[in-house]
Amino acid sequence: MRDKLYIDGKWIAASGGTFDVVNPATAELIHKAPAGTAADVDKAVRAARRAFDHDGWPALSGAQRAQYLRAIAAGIRARQTELARMEVADNGKPLPEADWDIGDAAGCFDFYAGLAEQLDENPHEAVLLPDDRFVSKVVREPVGVAGAIIPWNYPLLMAAWKVAPALAAGCTMVLKPSELTPLTALELGAIADAAGLPPGVLNIVTGLGPQAGQALIDHAGVDKLAFTGSVPTGSKVMAAAARDIKRISLELGGKSPFIVFDDADIEKAVEWIMFGIFWNQGQVCSATSRVLVQEGVYEPLLARLVEEAAKITIGNGLEEGILLGPLVSEGQQAKVLAAIDAARAAGATVAYGGDRPQGLAAGFFVEPTVLVNPPLESAAWREEIFGPVVCVRSFSTEAEAVERANDSRFGLAAAVMSADDERAERVAAAMRAGIVWINCSQPTFTEAPWGGYKQSGIGRELGRWGLENYLETKQITRYASQDPWGWYIRN
Ligand code: NAD
Repeated sequence: MRDKLYIDGKWIAASGGTFDVVNPATAELIHKAPAGTAADVDKAVRAARRAFDHDGWPALSGAQRAQYLRAIAAGIRARQTELARMEVADNGKPLPEADWDIGDAAGCFDFYAGLAEQLDENPHEAVLLPDDRFVSKVVREPVGVAGAIIPWNYPLLMAAWKVAPALAAGCTMVLKPSELTPLTALELGAIADAAGLPPGVLNIVTGLGPQAGQALIDHAGVDKLAFTGSVPTGSKVMAAAARDIKRISLELGGKSPFIVFDDADIEKAVEWIMFGIFWNQGQVCSATSRVLVQEGVYEPLLARLVEEAAKITIGNGLEEGILLGPLVSEGQQAKVLAAIDAARAAGATVAYGGDRPQGLAAGFFVEPTVLVNPPLESAAWREEIFGPVVCVRSFSTEAEAVERANDSRFGLAAAVMSADDERAERVAAAMRAGIVWINCSQPTFTEAPWGGYKQSGIGRELGRWGLENYLETKQITRYASQDPWGWYIRN
């Protein structure tokens, strides 16, 4: 585990001392991570500026940048098991999930290597003008220095979603990981270094949000902010960006609905409902935490959901067969338990779970929890709980389901299950959300756009849309006629 910041291709002691990193399964201190401050962020931004403005990173061909990205992907894969175990110790998730995430992170670097190569194939796009005395073309250029701030739920994967497209586009970057899970981001610095990435292209400053994070969003040397996290912090990022018109992309929270019609297969619906809320302990921005079940299948579905929730094996994510690990921190555990208590007080019934599991007192565990009938105006139904807590209500008509599903300030994702493809497509079209799953929930592909409507964010990550985040658009228009323009000077 690393105790220095990665700035300008060197490992540098942080000027803010250290902060504690705790294993959420055991509550043990596992590391003292370097606490970067505004001074460290300034060094990192200056290095990124120099790498962008003077050292030629944006001038490399896409194919040259792709070589670095592929080397980083290979470096991640070479250490996949070690990184996955590190992520379990840091975040708590079960090892097979962490292993999946690390593989996805490597895949993300390979994917954007491919898109970097494609930039060379189409260096410009012609624009047809209505006046044939002019010839115009459009070129895409990197935005500049990007500042990236990420959450703790998918530590290395969230880093990859930002670092890979930024570097592919020709941007340089300062990355600030979450203070709850800083370990694998620092390893990414070591992997990039071993891949020969030029100094200053990628800088990694661990530290606390109000210190290192705030300094990064306020820094005048940053051209673009890419943020993933909560709505309140996203608002701060947007406010900071507004001061000097930084470009921004925001991936924020959600309270995504999952609509099950009565022609759906109950067993499949229960499986996807569980995958939609218990994977990663429900600490997933797109978690389908509001389940709407049509009256005809409501009772049997609920009974099966409770039966299966009770079978989930809970424990330290490093142990074989564990399906639910601890929440990321003591604070997150307290927040989720408080949300369950508030739901009870508001009139919801706890059909399963609702407490700390027996025999796991040391870690920050919460049982898989099924809340039935939280009132429509209750916080449990409206606000993100970010834990293994699913809210279930019934509905009678399609119109009612659509209205309830869309009645949210969030719009990240939605899921619909039905044997009737036409109905599923109709409902998908009616969802005010950036991602809609039909007959499943959560599968995420690097190729497809990711992001939300409404307060779930601005912009899209992943796919070619993720690259767009880091590109400016420039028109170059030439007067191609030999004739004088003849406005002021007429002969
Ligand atoms: P958070 O907003 O508390 O923290 C996110 C990051 O912001 C951390 O790195 C933190 O240090 C930093 N930060 C905190 N204060 C800051 C400040 N004043 N200035 C700059 N940076 C600051 O969120 P979290 O608890 O880490 O993550 C959970 C949230 O993230 C949830 O709401 C979840 O829905 C959201 N999320 C969204 C997506 C998505 O793709 N839409 C993905 C994962 C998580």
